[in-house]
Amino acid sequence: MIFTLADILAAQARIKGVADQTPFIPSPFMSAACGQEFLMKMENMQPVGAFKLRGAVSAVMALCEDVRGVTCCSTGNHGRGIAFAAAKRGIKAVICMSSLVPTAKVEAVRALGAEVRIIGTTQDEAMHESQRICESEGLVEISPFDDPHVIGGQGTIGLEMLEARPDLETILVPLSGGGLAAGVATAAKAINPRIRVIGITMDRGAAMYESVKANTPVEVPEFSSLADSLGGGIGLKNRLSFQICRDLIDDYILVTEDEIRHAMQVMFYEDRMVAEGASVVGMAAVLSGKSPALGGPVATIVTGRNLDMPTFAHIMMGQDVSIGKLRVKGVSYAA
Ligand SMILES: *Cc1c(COP(=O)(O)O)cnc(C)c1O
Repeated sequence: MIFTLADILAAQARIKGVADQTPFIPSPFMSAACGQEFLMKMENMQPVGAFKLRGAVSAVMALCEDVRGVTCCSTGNHGRGIAFAAAKRGIKAVICMSSLVPTAKVEAVRALGAEVRIIGTTQDEAMHESQRICESEGLVEISPFDDPHVIGGQGTIGLEMLEARPDLETILVPLSGGGLAAGVATAAKAINPRIRVIGITMDRGAAMYESVKANTPVEVPEFSSLADSLGGGIGLKNRLSFQICRDLIDDYILVTEDEIRHAMQVMFYEDRMVAEGASVVGMAAVLSGKSPALGGPVATIVTGRNLDMPTFAHIMMGQDVSIGKLRVKGVSYAA
């Protein structure tokens, strides 16, 4: 399957007026930390609080007239985007999620009128359930990352960034199933082939990183994480996002829970932004000192804001938090 800039331009037309063009703003604090101008694409400001709206709307709007309904697996944000898009089209949506998904995300999907099924304790189990439902209930399955229309929608973020700042040299992309990175890298490199795209993910259960290293999709164990939106595998039968990420991602950086916790505090105390763990891994990569000297301007995508608010409040107050089996030690913020 060949995926190009033309697919992203087609998605841009489908999502117009539903997904927003988000602000793209400098962070003075991160620019100082990075030694280069550092820009943030604020996808946490999308109507459902995450960039996944773009891919979901792109995919749902591309379905044929007589579609009965849609199903998907989700770590929360894709399901919310699909529920939103399905409601807009007036079709049924069944969203499969594991028990790792925070309650706030589950409730938000229900509030949009979608049917929620909580299946098993991992994203991979939820993925198998949505594949089963697609066959048994005649619904169309929309993968959160391995779907050309989804990748096309996410790629519109890359178009907007390069349109605003054609001089970008490095993009730090939060990475899980790779739909976002595949779309953004395709758009950015079609416009400027020399731009560097670095995939950032948590160090436990880094599915795309392990798969690219093995040169084939592999399964990884799943853990509770502050970056809950980055959990889950890439699917052993991955057709598209694996291939594009393998070909276009220049480098990978893995960050720890403590580094994510600190970056969430930086976003709040320095930039005054509420951002979920998955969305600050680009900052975490820079602040941890793990990123090599980056060519600037540097940009990252603040992918979402859909947090469990009590947990967020504890982290900001420097208190310990527990998420499933994960314990993250609290540290009071000091720049
Ligand atoms: C889904 C998601 C990601 C990762 O996107 P992929 O396309 O799966 O790589 C990052 N951040 C947030 C908030 C997400 O919901």
